[in-house]
Amino acid sequence: MSAGERPFVVAIIGAGPSGIYAAEALSQQTDVPVSVAVLDRLPVPFGLVRYGVAPDHHSIRSIRNTLERTLEKSGVRFYGDVTIGSDLTIDELRGVVDAVIYAYGAGTDRRLGIDGEDLFGSIAAPEFVAWYCGHPDVHPDIDRVAARGPDTQAERAARLIATTRSAVVVGVGNVALDVARVLIKSVDQLADTDMADDVMASLAKKTVTDVHILGRRGPAYTAFTTKELRELGQLPDVDVIIDPADLELDGSSRAVVEQDKVAARNMAVMNGWAAAPPTGAPRRIHFHFWTRPIAISGDGQVEAVHTERTRIDSDGYVQGTGETDSIPAQLVVRSVGYKGTQLPGVPFDAATGRVPHSEGRVIRDGEFSADEYVTGWIKRGPTGVIGTNKSDAVETVTSLIADIHDGAVQAVHSIEELDELLAGRDIHPLGMPAWHRIDAAEIELGESHGRRRTTLAHRSELLAAAEDHDSDAAAARP
Ligand code: NAP
Repeated sequence: MSAGERPFVVAIIGAGPSGIYAAEALSQQTDVPVSVAVLDRLPVPFGLVRYGVAPDHHSIRSIRNTLERTLEKSGVRFYGDVTIGSDLTIDELRGVVDAVIYAYGAGTDRRLGIDGEDLFGSIAAPEFVAWYCGHPDVHPDIDRVAARGPDTQAERAARLIATTRSAVVVGVGNVALDVARVLIKSVDQLADTDMADDVMASLAKKTVTDVHILGRRGPAYTAFTTKELRELGQLPDVDVIIDPADLELDGSSRAVVEQDKVAARNMAVMNGWAAAPPTGAPRRIHFHFWTRPIAISGDGQVEAVHTERTRIDSDGYVQGTGETDSIPAQLVVRSVGYKGTQLPGVPFDAATGRVPHSEGRVIRDGEFSADEYVTGWIKRGPTGVIGTNKSDAVETVTSLIADIHDGAVQAVHSIEELDELLAGRDIHPLGMPAWHRIDAAEIELGESHGRRRTTLAHRSELLAAAEDHDSDAAAARP
C-alpha cells in the first residue's frame, strides 16, 4: 500500500474457519489495503474448530494454529464477545465500516418431524457436540442456572450419559461418526483430549454398550469420509456390526458406487466389517441401513425408537415399505445436519437456511447490496470439510476486491470509528492478548492434572482467564 492510502475497513461477522479464511484471503491480496475486524459473540475465536471438531481429532483441531496466525497478522484484529444483533445492530455496524462479510455459520439443528422427538433423551447432535466440546451456551454460568432452574442442557446430557446403555444416532454423516465415537469410547480412550472437567466427569459415568446408527437410504448413500468411517473399526473393545444383506446393492446404488470413489471406498470398509465375525467385544456399533425413524416413544423419556424399512422409488425418493421394527434405547442423537438461522437485519432465505447471494455478493430486496458479502455455511449450507471454507472465502473476497476496483465499495471509514462506537456503548471486545491468556490458563489447568489442556466451558471462567492482571494492577497504581 502506498503511503497515505486509506485502507478499506472490512468487518467479518464470525471468527470460525469461514470468517478467518476470509480474513486470510483479504490479508493475502495485495491489490488494495484493508483493515479487517473479525467479530464474534463468543469470548474466544475459532468457531467450530473449537466447538465442533471432535476433541479426539487432534490433527483437524490443530488447524487452529493456522487460524490463530491469521488473527495475529497486522491489519487483522479479533473482536471477541461482541454480539451483532444485541450489542450492535447490523445497520450500526454497516454505518462504521466499508463492507461486512457474514460468516456466522449454521448454528441450529434440522428436525426429524416425528412423534417423541422432544422427549427427554432425544437430543440434537449440534447440542450434544456443543456439550462435549465445552461450548458456553450449553454450560451456562451458575447465576444463569439459578435463573433457569436446575435442568441445563449440560446437566441433561450428563444425566443421559450416566443412564444410557443403548443409544440411537440418526443420520449417516461425519457428525454421526463423531457422536458414535464419543459415545462408545471408554473414558480412558478420551483422556487425551481437552474436554472440560465437567464433561470428563460425566463421561467417566458412561454406561453405553451399544450405539445404533440409522441410515434412511442404503450404504452407497452415506455422507461419511472414508478415513473417519474406517476409524470406527479401529476402536479397541468395540465390534462394528452390519447385516451383510444391508450391503447388497440394487441398480441405483451400484451406479452410485461406480461413479463415486468415496462411496466405493466406504462400501469396501463396510463389506470388510460385515465379513468379519463379531469378536465378542464389550461394546458395539450397529449400522442399520434402509431404516428411518418413524417415532420415538417412552414414558416421559426415551425408551425406544420405532423404525420403518425403506426403499428408493423410481424417482430416487425414499419410501417406507411398511415393514416396522423398534430399537430399545435411552438416548437418541438426531444427527441429520445443521441449519442456518437469520441474524436480525440480515437478508435470509428461510427455505434454504442461507443468506441469498451470488458469488458471495449478498442480495438484499432483490438487488445486490453495495457493502454486504457472505461466506461459509451461511452462504452455501452446512456442507464440506473445513478446507472447503478456504476456497469459498476466496470466491467472496475476489468479488469484494472486484467491487472495490469498480468503485462500488469505497474507503470512507476508519477502524477507529468501530472502536469508538463500541467504547461509546461500554462494550470492551476481547482481542488476541485475551485469547492467549485463556489459552495459557487452559494449558495450565490441563497440565495440573496430567492432560495437555482442559477447555474452560463456562463463560465466567473464560472471562476470568482473559483478564489482564498485569495491566489491571498497573492501572490501579497511583
Ligand atoms: P451431513 O453430512 O449433511 O449428513 C446428514 C445425514 O443426515 C445424512 O446421512 C442424511 O441422509 C441424514 N438425514 C437428513 N435428514 C434426515 C431425516 N429426516 N431422517 C434420517 N436421516 C436424515 O451432516 P453432518 O454429519 O451434520 O455434517 C455436516 C458437515 O460437517 C458435513 O459436510 C461433514 O462432512 C462435515 N464434518 C466433517 C467432519 C470431518 O471431516 N471429520 C466431522 C464432522 C462434520 P440423506 O443423505 O438421505 O439426506
